Amino acid sequence: MNNELFKNGIEVIKTLKAQGFEAFFVGGCVRDYLLDVKFNDIDIASNARTFEVRNLFENTQLIGEKYGTIQVIVNNEKIQITTYRQESNYSDSRHPSNVNFDTGYAKDVQRRDFTINGLLMDENLSIIDLVGGKDDLQKKVIKTIGPANERFKEDALRMLRAFYFVSKLDFYVENETFSAINHLASTLNNISKERILQELIKIIKAPHYKKALSLLAKSNIRFFLSGLTKGIEYLGNLFSNENPAYDMRVDTFFTLCFCLNGSVDNYYNFSNRSLHQYQEALIIAKEKSYLNPHILFHYGIEIPKLASWANYILKVDELRIKEISQAFLNLPIKSIYDVAINGNTILEVTQKKMGSWVGKILNQIIDLILDHQLKNEKETLIKYLKEQVGN
Ligand code: ATP
Ligand code: MG
Repeated sequence: MNNELFKNGIEVIKTLKAQGFEAFFVGGCVRDYLLDVKFNDIDIASNARTFEVRNLFENTQLIGEKYGTIQVIVNNEKIQITTYRQESNYSDSRHPSNVNFDTGYAKDVQRRDFTINGLLMDENLSIIDLVGGKDDLQKKVIKTIGPANERFKEDALRMLRAFYFVSKLDFYVENETFSAINHLASTLNNISKERILQELIKIIKAPHYKKALSLLAKSNIRFFLSGLTKGIEYLGNLFSNENPAYDMRVDTFFTLCFCLNGSVDNYYNFSNRSLHQYQEALIIAKEKSYLNPHILFHYGIEIPKLASWANYILKVDELRIKEISQAFLNLPIKSIYDVAINGNTILEVTQKKMGSWVGKILNQIIDLILDHQLKNEKETLIKYLKEQVGN
């Protein structure tokens, strides 16, 4: 891995140190550097307080004063600096009721979730390991810093993060950590739906999602993911036994889960667009109607393809992707604008007053064109129209 990637971060650390502060790279960027994989973002831990950091850099943005986090932007790179902190008294499995900034880096490391995320690195890229993180990186193990039960009681989201790191890194969850997850699975209910959805999406999008789903299916967490339990069990079982060559997209995952669930569960407050997609795909999958010209005309190809993918992974049908594209190309009309007459023509020809009947007859015409019972030619359509309205 190229050290160049830390260039801006090193500059930030040097600036802080020049003022007498301590500062280290921490968390994901150190972990990913040691694993020689690309990291998402740079995090720095420092004893400087946010107001002190703000005075040292030109371009800063306060993003979590309560948690001591500020972002500095150096050469267009966003770098997060978080003041060392110690947390206590989690009353709700999510928010510490007490944050103490007056602490050293050793305590800051202790509040982090997993040993592999608790490594520090200085500006010379030398590692400081107070939690056995290097060893666990080598063993490919995800293990909490300190007693797993306590760490998950403090913040239940960490349980899902364990599965995310399985998916991202192809690691194993250490036994005590996995037992604690099973024991405390129900506390996932303390986490906001939005955070759970975000973390689930990260799990499905990361490269080893098949392994993560297999593990999720064996853990009690599956019972606390509303509407997804049967899907996770199905996929976990499938991916434990086979390693199919395809990749599953996030929307396919949800569609498949809801197919097995029997209906779309909107516990996670999906966007309107996603919600409609899942609802429509569910009906199409159930009816296997993805090649129906009326379906293709009204929905386009994406939703029918989604339904076909779900049915394929569920092994209830062949994959119909190519056939769907071909059937769409073969449609005599692909949108309302392709119809050889429009609302105005209908009014002109019939000499009648505007009303809902115009839309109705236009839909009738569209259906007949799609069924190849009417040719999409202006004269033919006008003739049909006159017959219908008796003009
Ligand atoms: P990614 O590759 O997804 O960015 P990451 O480990 O960097 O993974 P972040 O969410 O960016 O994850 O968090 C940065 C660091 O902050 C983590 O490595 C960890 O040390 C700490 N951290 C993040 N979330 C938690 C949490 N819920 N509990 C304890 N420590 C956390
Ligand atoms: Mg990160």
